[in-house]
Amino acid sequence: MNEISHHMANRPWAGTSDRWSEIRNPATGAVTGRVALASRADVDTVVEAARRALPGWAATPPAKRAAVLFDFRDLLRQHIDELAALLSAEHGKTIPDAKGEIARGIEVVEFACGIPQLLKGDYSESVATNVDSFSVRQPVGVVAGITPFNFPAMVPLWMYPVAIACGNTFVLKPSEKDPSVVLRIADLLAEAGLPEGVFNVVNGDKEAVDALLDNPAVEAISFVGSTPIGQYIYTRGAANGKRVQALCGAKNHMVVMPDADMDQVVDALIGSAYGSAGERCMAISVVVPVGEDTADRLVAALSPRIRQLRIAPCTDPEAELGPVISKQSQTRILGLIEEGLARGAELVVDGRGISIPGHEEGYFIGGCLFDRVTTGMSIYREEIFGPVLSVVRAKTYEEAVQMVNNHEFGNGTAIFTRDGDAARDFWARVRIGMVGVNVPIPVPVAYHSFGGWKRSLFGDHHIHGMEGVRFYTRLKTMTTRWPSGIRTGAEFNFTSGKDA
Ligand code: NAD
Repeated sequence: MNEISHHMANRPWAGTSDRWSEIRNPATGAVTGRVALASRADVDTVVEAARRALPGWAATPPAKRAAVLFDFRDLLRQHIDELAALLSAEHGKTIPDAKGEIARGIEVVEFACGIPQLLKGDYSESVATNVDSFSVRQPVGVVAGITPFNFPAMVPLWMYPVAIACGNTFVLKPSEKDPSVVLRIADLLAEAGLPEGVFNVVNGDKEAVDALLDNPAVEAISFVGSTPIGQYIYTRGAANGKRVQALCGAKNHMVVMPDADMDQVVDALIGSAYGSAGERCMAISVVVPVGEDTADRLVAALSPRIRQLRIAPCTDPEAELGPVISKQSQTRILGLIEEGLARGAELVVDGRGISIPGHEEGYFIGGCLFDRVTTGMSIYREEIFGPVLSVVRAKTYEEAVQMVNNHEFGNGTAIFTRDGDAARDFWARVRIGMVGVNVPIPVPVAYHSFGGWKRSLFGDHHIHGMEGVRFYTRLKTMTTRWPSGIRTGAEFNFTSGKDA
């Protein structure tokens, strides 16, 4: 059985706690390992290792930090098959999907390799007579990352490559449901030549998270996960004086205009609603066709495609839809489907009751499609985080825009149309952080920044790209004068303009 502990000073570290959590293969339900749940004292030990490593790493020239990241990037590419297999065995997503997430994570490493350029400051000569001014960005210190189960490789990679490139040291608390891939990646980072203590992993649950939130040596926290936990982390972290960014839950709407190419729409929905079993914060979970005719055509074209999805474990090379993460998650999703039926939504495609020979205990749910969902229903309001898509029919484009704007979440959205005016009006007016025009999952590339609005993000900064560099650095501005034989005498006022 696989036994997972922590990673400190470039080595596995057992910690001192005797609490453990089971790791399961979601495709079979079988226990495949166990992961240590750190105590508060364990977390403090790991944070101390990061704190000790900070002065040396912060003083390392950015180009030397980047040199480690270049080697790390090569190692990730060399080991992508091994990493994807490890990831899928615990998460359940298909192997191509796992490789895709690692590839997107590698793009953030590539972005972080440009850190000497990204950290370049501003310099103004002669802001006053013989006075120059310049600004630099310096690391914030020890940074912690707390990450969800659904992208066990990519979401941590959104954080620590940028953080360590900026000169910080890092403590990662990954999801306890699928921690193995993170620890293997930590080995690769050590192999790339990262000094001891710069990157550390502590596994655990609420006790470990609370210890990170309360430890005064932790200066900043990046969180990605559900909204209730993110709001808690933001509130407690900020109360303790830390910089916090918390990227949270979502309910992403796709608006389908009457002029949209229906084949393109159906292809887009199959991937974005059912890919990764709907367990993506950028999954489309609501589709809003404008007009009854558009809705009827959409449901007629989409339903047979959902029924054809190949539901299978990740070991099947033809798999399109794998299991959800846990029995608890499967039960919660099935409960929401029952609620939808009880409230009068039409379950046009029913993916419940799937049984796969040899995987009867796996947490599979086939693709589900609800039609005639209304905005008061729990299946509309709540993030289901499973392969369940709701059709909410809108009479007009305006009604569709209001629906998107009135939802409590604001992570992603998309419009499908051939009309440039409608597309422009949509992206300009929606209160959403990431918007696609004929692109169903508009995840920004690594050199742009990822993040939502409303209750999908607490804090001021989006993640990776320049927002990531800003989050992981503090701005410092110098005003300097060198002795030049000119006496100014005592100054009691600010000087400006002609007096400066
Ligand atoms: P989660 O909130 O349950 O867990 C996230 C992290 O918080 C984990 O490391 C977990 O151990 C920790 N945690 C859980 N309960 C805690 C508690 N009571 N106190 C302190 N820490 C706790 O989320 P999840 O189920 O792992 O992931 C799914 C969620 O993540 C979805 O809501 C999804 O939308 C969201 N997500 C958001 C983004 C984004 O960028 N906005 C990206 C990926 C996932």
